[in-house]
Amino acid sequence: MIAKTKYIPDGKKALKELPILHYLDAEYVYYPVTSARCPEGETCVRGGQFVKVGEVVGTRKGAFFEQPMHATVSGEVVGYEKHIDNSGKLVDCLIVKNDRKYALHESIKDRTDEEIDALTKEEFIQIVKDAGLVGLGGSAFPTYIKLETKDPIQVVIANGVECEPNLIADYSLMMNNPREIIKGLIYAMKASGAPKGVIAIKKKYKEIEERLKFALQEFTEYDIQVVKVGNFYPQGWEISMIKEALGIKIPQGELLSKYGVLNFNVSTLQSIYNAVKKRLPVLERLFTISGDGVQNKSFRARIGTLVSDLIELAGGYKEEEQSKVMILGGPMMGTNIQRDDVVMTHTTTSLIVLNEKVEKEEPCVHCASCVYSCPVEIQPVQIMNAYKVRDKDALKMLEVNKCIECGLCSFVCPSKIHLTEYMRSGKRFAGK
Ligand code: SF4
Ligand code: SF4
Repeated sequence: MIAKTKYIPDGKKALKELPILHYLDAEYVYYPVTSARCPEGETCVRGGQFVKVGEVVGTRKGAFFEQPMHATVSGEVVGYEKHIDNSGKLVDCLIVKNDRKYALHESIKDRTDEEIDALTKEEFIQIVKDAGLVGLGGSAFPTYIKLETKDPIQVVIANGVECEPNLIADYSLMMNNPREIIKGLIYAMKASGAPKGVIAIKKKYKEIEERLKFALQEFTEYDIQVVKVGNFYPQGWEISMIKEALGIKIPQGELLSKYGVLNFNVSTLQSIYNAVKKRLPVLERLFTISGDGVQNKSFRARIGTLVSDLIELAGGYKEEEQSKVMILGGPMMGTNIQRDDVVMTHTTTSLIVLNEKVEKEEPCVHCASCVYSCPVEIQPVQIMNAYKVRDKDALKMLEVNKCIECGLCSFVCPSKIHLTEYMRSGKRFAGK
């Protein structure tokens, strides 16, 4: 049996129909001092100090960049606690007790269109840097670094493909705020000098195409097109999306900017709009709770909200006596977590709670389905075998580092082998 798979059930239909519940007034909010990309960090406020919405409360430090942390409520700094961040790690979090007044920091005020028109490339980049913006599609890569490129940029892509099952944050944003995405795209075009913008969406989303095209009527002086790409998985992976949307084949590992392209998730573009127009960092986002082990709900919540609060508000777990599997993010690329006191950060979009079914791994039947389905054309089964005997040279020769952890190999495997876990472990081991 050889099965190439790229169509997977996306589980979004019912989730898209859920009303969005607003939970923007949590009593305590928590700000992780570190993140997956920033292993170090420090705060610049002390216990008892009052902070305002948009105020800088600390800095996270990565290997090659720093990211300011901002308060998303006004209130009193009351200390630190350990909670889970979006990489599944237990980390120190600064706690602010929400005074529910939402007083804005003095730096937060709208720019006029004239002020925005007069911004230079350097000023756009500084605004994005000061707002601490990162890729909200999950990459968490600093947005200002992409904009800083010296390469001539021909086109900025707004990636609205969101191919991962169960995730609906970008869909909801495109339905409800197409104008803010378009304005963010225009600002990114100005900052990078790109004459052209493209918004890439899935072919099947006719309603999104209509909304975007309607909103674009207001911006006819800009060269911006909506382009539809395939409904398959992982079409949102930038290499695959750019190939289909622009016809440009970019080798994996190369910078997109070398090919005249910059790619931003649609949520990231909205955050650029908010930073440039309103001088705001990311304050809130859509978060979805789904799966058969929990009441399914969509929330709009502040960055810093505890996911356990949202689960409680949603009505708690179903069949509490049954053990659960919890996945932060989507089912294909998400992270398994053991406890639910997760802090909602910029890149936390979804929690999936499943009633645990024990699926025993069977031996490999050498069907090659994993090899045929892999979008980056590596050999998951061979990599698994090399990892099992800790053969670093073989792992490198098999190009384990090309794996984008899309999860397709695990999905197609008839023997239920957790191949993606082997790929992750193999990458870590080969990199040592
Ligand atoms: S998880 Fe990695 S090895 Fe598996 S199909 Fe995706 S890219 Fe290929
Ligand atoms: S690992 Fe799974 S999908 Fe890959 S060859 Fe073996 S049985 Fe088939």
